[in-house]
Amino acid sequence: MKLQEIVKKRCGKTIAQCSNEELYYALLEMTKGMAAEKVSSRGKRKLYYISAEFLIGKLLSNNLINLGIYEEVRELLAENGKSLAEVEEAEPEPSLGNGGLGRLAACFLDSIASLGLNGDGVGLNYHYGLFKQVFQNNLQNETPNPWIEKESWLTKTDVSYPVSFGGFKLQSRMYDIDVLGYDNRTTKLHLFDVETVDEGLVGEGIDFDKEDIARNLTLFLYPDDSDDKGRILRVYQQYFMVSNAARLILDEAVKRGSTLHDLDEYAVIQINDTHPSMVIPELIRLLMERGILMDEAIQIVSKACAYTNHTILAEALEKWPIHFLEKAVPQLLPIIYELNSRVAEKFHDKSVAIIDEEQRVHMAHMDIHYGYSINGVAYLHTEILKNSELNHFYRIYPEKFNNKTNGITFRRWLLYCNRELTALIESLIGSGFKKDAKELEKLLRFADDTAVLEKLLAVKAGNKAELKEYLEKTQKITLDENSVFDIQVKRLHEYKRQQMNALYVIHKYFEIKAGKKPTRPITVIFGAKAAPAYVIAKDIIHLILCLEELIAKDPEVSPYLKVVMVENYNVTLAEKLIPAADIHEQISLASKEASGTSNMKFMLNGAVAIGTMDGANVEMHQFVGDDNIYIFGESSEAVIKHYEKADYVSKDYYEKDEDIKRAIDFIVSDKMLSVGKKENLNRLYQELLNKDWFMTLPDFKEYAAAKERIYADYEDRMAWAKKMLINIGKAGFFSSDRTIEQYNEDIWHL
Ligand SMILES: *Cc1c(COP(=O)(O)O)cnc(C)c1O
Repeated sequence: MKLQEIVKKRCGKTIAQCSNEELYYALLEMTKGMAAEKVSSRGKRKLYYISAEFLIGKLLSNNLINLGIYEEVRELLAENGKSLAEVEEAEPEPSLGNGGLGRLAACFLDSIASLGLNGDGVGLNYHYGLFKQVFQNNLQNETPNPWIEKESWLTKTDVSYPVSFGGFKLQSRMYDIDVLGYDNRTTKLHLFDVETVDEGLVGEGIDFDKEDIARNLTLFLYPDDSDDKGRILRVYQQYFMVSNAARLILDEAVKRGSTLHDLDEYAVIQINDTHPSMVIPELIRLLMERGILMDEAIQIVSKACAYTNHTILAEALEKWPIHFLEKAVPQLLPIIYELNSRVAEKFHDKSVAIIDEEQRVHMAHMDIHYGYSINGVAYLHTEILKNSELNHFYRIYPEKFNNKTNGITFRRWLLYCNRELTALIESLIGSGFKKDAKELEKLLRFADDTAVLEKLLAVKAGNKAELKEYLEKTQKITLDENSVFDIQVKRLHEYKRQQMNALYVIHKYFEIKAGKKPTRPITVIFGAKAAPAYVIAKDIIHLILCLEELIAKDPEVSPYLKVVMVENYNVTLAEKLIPAADIHEQISLASKEASGTSNMKFMLNGAVAIGTMDGANVEMHQFVGDDNIYIFGESSEAVIKHYEKADYVSKDYYEKDEDIKRAIDFIVSDKMLSVGKKENLNRLYQELLNKDWFMTLPDFKEYAAAKERIYADYEDRMAWAKKMLINIGKAGFFSSDRTIEQYNEDIWHL
């Protein structure tokens, strides 16, 4: 092991004498060196996965696992009185993403590398990841979240391009992060930065001068876009990302022998959601600069670009006012106008136009007309795209539409985050599942083996104890490890319906007060960040934090019910929470969650879901059957009809149902006002009563009933362990290796 040598050279000490920080940097250097020696895949055709987000999480342990030296390093450190887990704490998490979409991109890179495919990721080198969440007075505050230190996973390259904007030019610089595949090769994550970026621009909190583009461009992931300045900044960021990507793609293709007329034989570009959509006009523009005529340039680019849709929420489908583009990227306008008029000539249906009557550019429409593939991210989601949301496009281009159900990398979400479970699985079915996730099915043989089921319960109990210890140490949260851990962690959004879970907590609070005590104490754990400008989402956080305080202070209720909201939910916390979960909440309003991926992580770690027939829950349900997942709520068809007819009135449910009324009224009760803020609580109360856009109330009774069932079933420990085992055994389909193989087979053809 080279570690001793590196440590000696760096610090002039032995391993035992080093601090955890010194050891972290030594391991960083060692791992980067080992990665540099690996070959990246080569081949004629190459994939460029362009994404505004790569939520990669900490890299040290994952890289050690993928290099096959995790145990060796852990033991070496242990022999010297050091703990790898503690060394890891010295690593800052690069939170270069919001949630599912960014985490998906990171899982995909892991699988691309592990499968040895020829493909790289391209994105931006944000100096601050998603804000760090801090709770104060039961409210969310946002503070900057830096991750780039003097030494980091980034490697500076000599790739640099001049990028023009309306009225000025910026010089870019490419940094690389090596993504190590499991037992295989590496791939690169290319992150572009501006040379003039200035961290000194950041003042109090996460405020900064939004108009000083040269200094602010890559400071933040998703700067606050509640005003036009913030929104235009996103356009600058997006163009900067794709202009660099496009030049890199063309340069590399030429190097590999392309004449550019045959670009599609050398490059395939996966556009991850609409943030990178401007790559289409930018590539056309650059090809024309290199002497190719417009007609041909359009054809070439259309054969090389594929688009992934991640949402049907209308507000999340980007539409840029044309004057934003005029200001930021005037050079693209002639091309966008041309693309638009070609569409308008062919299709008179205004709903498929690129530029609408309000002079807004619909990025997804451009992707669909000028890309060769459009995919949704779970079976139900793709069906909804085809049959309702993008139906007009589906009728024009049925052959372009396809489904690629999301997946997660089992290296991070099982091998690394749950080593005890991994060891148990390996002792039962051998190690083949590490390379072929389908082999997890072999576990089903043990579904009635009490000795195995006991062991499974013991692993879960161990993980719960570990989480207790971790939260105690890091957040001063105390958990009762004998209670049932019921966890909902994901971005805070009304469609994900954390508010329904909170209403259930209130309901349970009243039941306990009335003497209906649960057999076993319940711990409801939340983790969620709300977008800084999303007022109601922040009010929901306030509600949860107030409930946490109120219940903890109530001696009648607190022995039976505890609410916990962990601060600053991120990948690192996910890796601790998920292995410890008994129950996970996947309760989005049916039709709204495109796929979800935390549902897959929990399933793989032996937690049982309570959920709606939404996103990938539908496929999970198909795999495990009614006995092993708790499904409730209105179907997506029914929900879509409500929206069409606009026939949902929340007040009707409030007035008809005593339990619902009691729970909603409690939000503005004196008790709540004693710990919370009237403005926030009242706003949320009004919202639920008068709008409830994501239809919490119609599903509430069924939800509460399903919760009672799941808590009761939990008490039959053997039957429960069998459910856990079946969930794990059936999780193989949700490996991102499977997803990536399907992308390659149907779309990329590498
Ligand atoms: C997996 C993951 C998500 C996505 O969660 P969903 O429940 O699918 O929305 C979000 N954030 C983090 C940190 C994750 O690891």
